[in-house]
Amino acid sequence: MADQQLTCRDCGQVFTFTDGEQEFYASKNLSAPQRCKACRANRKNDRNGGGGMREMHDAVCAQCGAQCQVPFKPRPVEEGGKPVLCKACFMAKRDMAA
Ligand SMILES: [Zn+2]
Ligand SMILES: [Zn+2]
Repeated sequence: MADQQLTCRDCGQVFTFTDGEQEFYASKNLSAPQRCKACRANRKNDRNGGGGMREMHDAVCAQCGAQCQVPFKPRPVEEGGKPVLCKACFMAKRDMAA
């Protein structure tokens, strides 16, 4: 087998699909990669929460009682958790502090 030149579908750059990689992919029954190494690494980071969708948790605003969602798992205040504020209350509080 010889090295193949493939075009990344994300950034459009030509990258080398080496002989060794082709064997590896074939042994795993995988089809040829669609993206260059850099873009594959980026996508992996995204899946680990680096700028991608974050898991949201339901919470109740400690100030106005509105249902809201926060990017962390809220803990009861009695257990040392911070009171959860909805976006509106959070902004109002921040404006007051400024
Ligand atoms: Zn790329
Ligand atoms: Zn609120």
